[in-house]
Amino acid sequence: MRNKILDVLKNQQGEFVSGESLSQALSITRAAVWKQIQGLKEAGYEIEGQTRKGYRLVGTPCALDLWALQQELRTQALGRQLFFFAELSSTNDLLKDMVRQGREHGTVVIARRQTTGHGRMQRAWESPEGGLWLSLLLKPRLSLGDAAKLTLSTGVALAQTLQDLYGLAAGIKWPNDVVVQGRKIAGILGEVAGEWTTVQTLILGIGVNANFSGQTFSSKLPATTLQDILGYEVNLNHLAAQLLFNLEKEVQSLEQGDVQGLIQRWTSFAVGINQPVRIERAGTVYAGIFKGIREDGELILDLEGQEMTFSSGEVSLRAGDQYSPE
Ligand code: ADP
Repeated sequence: MRNKILDVLKNQQGEFVSGESLSQALSITRAAVWKQIQGLKEAGYEIEGQTRKGYRLVGTPCALDLWALQQELRTQALGRQLFFFAELSSTNDLLKDMVRQGREHGTVVIARRQTTGHGRMQRAWESPEGGLWLSLLLKPRLSLGDAAKLTLSTGVALAQTLQDLYGLAAGIKWPNDVVVQGRKIAGILGEVAGEWTTVQTLILGIGVNANFSGQTFSSKLPATTLQDILGYEVNLNHLAAQLLFNLEKEVQSLEQGDVQGLIQRWTSFAVGINQPVRIERAGTVYAGIFKGIREDGELILDLEGQEMTFSSGEVSLRAGDQYSPE
């Protein structure tokens, strides 16, 4: 019913629609129409009501909202199947369960908050209300090796989105943290679902710290939020739609075989290229110059003229002069 009212209001393109015609179109009483409108206003819809003229839709909510997000989507596949929750333990975990029921490429799960969101190696990912916590199912037409590059694509799409929408100089900290002013604003968790066989099924978890203050983090994380940086509330539906749009372009470009383009875009966002870094692997610290990444995503370190490569699973990376063992 709620979505039907929104559809009718939207079709009026900002013009008024009378309570009478709404009640007729939806076969409900005018009191019921009024009640629905109140509910929509509480959900953040800006609806102007005038006696005799009726109602008109002026604005959609900044908070995540299924109908508003569907209006914003400009993708072919990503987000066309959308599952929306007020709260979940973890969007990645739910989507992993759903894969077993044979969900299609592009399926998205979004929750307003997660109670046990996680990052790599089951590290906790704090996910309060106001953030964008989204998981995406991809069955890309890619070889095994290329499918693994999709976490790089996601980093590019995220950084690009923050630049497109808010003019932020977003960077990517290898392997795939998105940072603004040196602090983590978004994270990516790529997981393989089911058997890693001919058709790869990949789950990409994306978390963006958006409409909440970083002061709510339980500990002092080197993290920030869009609200802290921009000083205003962003439209999460718009953010999600732009992110899915940019990510779809990245997926398609990889499917067309443009690995070089991906590496170039990734490198253009990368933080610390040609600068001294320290990398810790299994207790040993390697200090060298960060030269970039190979096509497979491995980090290239120049150790006094000798190149070493590192894969993301096994190491942690620190700026050269700020190294402190954890
Ligand atoms: P990394 O690879 O940098 O350790 P992960 O992607 O594994 O990061 O994410 C988990 C870590 O991110 C946690 O251990 C915590 O330090 C940090 N963290 C948790 N929640 C958030 C958040 N909402 N924003 C930024 N950082 C977070």
